[in-house]
Amino acid sequence: MHRIPFNRVNWVTSSFLIGTALTALIGVPIYLYKVGLDWFQFAMFFFYLTASMMSITVGYHRLFSHLSFKAKTPVKLFTLIFGACAFENSCLNWASDHRLHHKHVDHDEDPYDISKGFFWAHIGWLLFKLDPEPEMNNVADLRKDKLVMWQHKYVHWIGFTVGVAIPMILGYFGNMLMGLDPWTGALGGFLIAGVARIVVAQHCTFFINSFCHMIGRQPYSTSHSARDSAIMAFFTFGEGYHNYHHEFQHDYRNGVKPWQWDPSKWTIWTLSKLGLVEGLRRVPDGRILLAEMGEARRKAQQDLAAVRAYGPGAAQRAADAMHEIVEKLSANYQELEKAVADRVQLSREAMNEWQNETRSLMNELRRTYASVSA
Ligand SMILES: [Zn+2]
Ligand SMILES: [Zn+2]
Repeated sequence: MHRIPFNRVNWVTSSFLIGTALTALIGVPIYLYKVGLDWFQFAMFFFYLTASMMSITVGYHRLFSHLSFKAKTPVKLFTLIFGACAFENSCLNWASDHRLHHKHVDHDEDPYDISKGFFWAHIGWLLFKLDPEPEMNNVADLRKDKLVMWQHKYVHWIGFTVGVAIPMILGYFGNMLMGLDPWTGALGGFLIAGVARIVVAQHCTFFINSFCHMIGRQPYSTSHSARDSAIMAFFTFGEGYHNYHHEFQHDYRNGVKPWQWDPSKWTIWTLSKLGLVEGLRRVPDGRILLAEMGEARRKAQQDLAAVRAYGPGAAQRAADAMHEIVEKLSANYQELEKAVADRVQLSREAMNEWQNETRSLMNELRRTYASVSA
């Protein structure tokens, strides 16, 4: 206990985070045991979870923090209102912290610096005051937005009214219409679509700062800790492809491959077809492939250096074979690099060929490496 810096505890945030978690963990099971769960409560929970999470991922994150597309007023308003219901502070605060995170990732000035460990990156940075407190001097563009400033001023009122009071009112009248006790319905709305949903949405968001910097692959860059993971993408409405995101933060897509689970990307795309958002920013395919090939080459060089260290004999022969693969990867990389620099329009076929060759070279490399390291 003596190691907890009590002078730096953020009492309001800590009480809220711990209080909501305890209320959900204790209250929900008792409610379910005594009353059971009806479809109406379940539907409200699901709606509120999706609306508040999507408002964080599509709105707070991709729209306001990264400006990866432009949105019309209804989209801004919706994401600001339901974003407030996630109780993750105002959009202005959130975007300021998040821009710092990208700028100083894995370093001291990163508010949720993963090098301080899972607990700090997940929730510790909220329980304790940051030292020094960030100045919020990186959101001048958002300060010009009247809707953002309105939300900043009234964020807790909006969150409480729309995120807690309305589910209680709906629960009250829902039960009344079904001939059940209205106050039980109000309590259910408070506990399930209100408090429990807030706790789930918050921890799913916190996962992006913790697990998404720990679990998964790094296909685009190893210059930062962010990782790509399909499992994390499922819990975070598509934000789990975090290695791509840190490499190309202005892209409206996080799961850039067509098969990757990214409901936030699908939502933005759909909204653009409906004319509600526009100016979707995409990194050209050539640059994405270049990043992947650069990483493949780097890994190949690393393995080669490891095998060379084994010394003469079988290892030497393997090293020679691996050297050839590295050379091929380098030649391809340089060719693509030149094409991207010259802004040559690359065909789908050419890109696929490069991708397939990189993949087969890496497989060959892995086999050769395994044959000597076993
Ligand atoms: Zn990150
Ligand atoms: Zn981001």
